Amino acid sequence: MSQSAAELPVTRADFDEVMVPNYNPAAVIPVRGEGSRVWDQDDREYVDFAGGIAVTALGHCHPQLVSVLKEQGEKLWHLSNVMTNEPALRLAKKICAATFAERVYFANSGGEANEAALKLARKHAAEHHSEAKRRIVAFDNAFHGRTLFTVTAGGQPAKTEGFEPLPSGIDHVPFNDLDALAAAMDDDVCAVIVEPVQGEGGIVPADTEFLRGVRALCDRHNALLIFDEIQIGMGRSGHLFAYMGYGVTPDILTSAKALGNGFPIAAMLTTADIAASLTLGSHGSTYGGNPLACAVGEAVFDLISDPALLAGVGERRERLLAGLQPLVDKYDIFTDVRGSGLLLGCVLAEAWHGRGREILNAAIEQGLLVLVAGQTIIRLAPALNISHADIDEGLRRLQATLAALDGGTPAKQA
Ligand SMILES: *Cc1c(COP(=O)(O)O)cnc(C)c1O
Repeated sequence: MSQSAAELPVTRADFDEVMVPNYNPAAVIPVRGEGSRVWDQDDREYVDFAGGIAVTALGHCHPQLVSVLKEQGEKLWHLSNVMTNEPALRLAKKICAATFAERVYFANSGGEANEAALKLARKHAAEHHSEAKRRIVAFDNAFHGRTLFTVTAGGQPAKTEGFEPLPSGIDHVPFNDLDALAAAMDDDVCAVIVEPVQGEGGIVPADTEFLRGVRALCDRHNALLIFDEIQIGMGRSGHLFAYMGYGVTPDILTSAKALGNGFPIAAMLTTADIAASLTLGSHGSTYGGNPLACAVGEAVFDLISDPALLAGVGERRERLLAGLQPLVDKYDIFTDVRGSGLLLGCVLAEAWHGRGREILNAAIEQGLLVLVAGQTIIRLAPALNISHADIDEGLRRLQATLAALDGGTPAKQA
């Protein structure tokens, strides 16, 4: 028999002994959460401005989600795709009713949803166009996941290094540069994949004119437009999906992260016409669309598509921005704040480039969870329902963090 948790105490030091070294987690280990607060092994409490990297959009252990998870957990977890299930059908119907989508494919992670989107684009082109129509155009600094296809679509060479040979037929152009895209487009392009707001690449919103132009170029060259809304979708922009705010509709959209609020689920949304190319047996996933994940996803979808919750995103954004601006002005650490809805990027002054992790660790010492994005951004992705009191307390702790760091003295390395 294995030992119970109480008999087998674990610490951060164990990580280096038993885990693959692809992550370098912080010194503390959180053990529970409630709303926008988290507690570690020593019962120290943190305000959560990280939201599990834009995943826990309704906060930790939301009572309605806990109850749905327990209820479905006592009913039915898994069947395989030999049979369909009620939660998957209900969630898909709700997604189709609320968006441009007419068909949904469920997966377990963002990377898998994008993998399905890119495969679908190729298959659709193979069925409807010339053999030469294989190219995919993506953007520099994009992030689309870690499967070999999606990491190659992401425009960050550091993440593909050593994994060659990479899938071919993927080209990159600068983000928000319509002329560069126009120059890269021809009738051999089967799809353009873009994040309406680049997340990992540094919290960079697309210009509306740019996205409109991308749509027009895709139409001109019969290429499918894929919006990767894995980070910015599900309410984070203040709209249910960011495409709604931009008024630019893609052919395929991928969602994950907040869709499960921490329970793994992802979805690829598309039209009936395009979906028809994913013919019987052409693609699939053992876990994708299982009843447990879809039951949670359905409850999350209900809560986030509530107009009152979406309206609250803008209001919370204003409160955060009002509190962040004085910190930008007072300390020589942030030069600016940018982003969309409740996905905010605090732009680091040059002296702090590449040192985001020091700030993240210093914030932990002050009882605050924040995120890094790229070399130059401290990213905030709090829950969309974070309370005013938690926003204000988080801002106080951020001020304490910056005060401790200002003058260029690095925080004690955790
Ligand atoms: C997180 C993310 C992904 C990858 O999602 P995983 O669930 O980690 O596979 C893809 N695209 C974007 C925009 C993301 O933010």
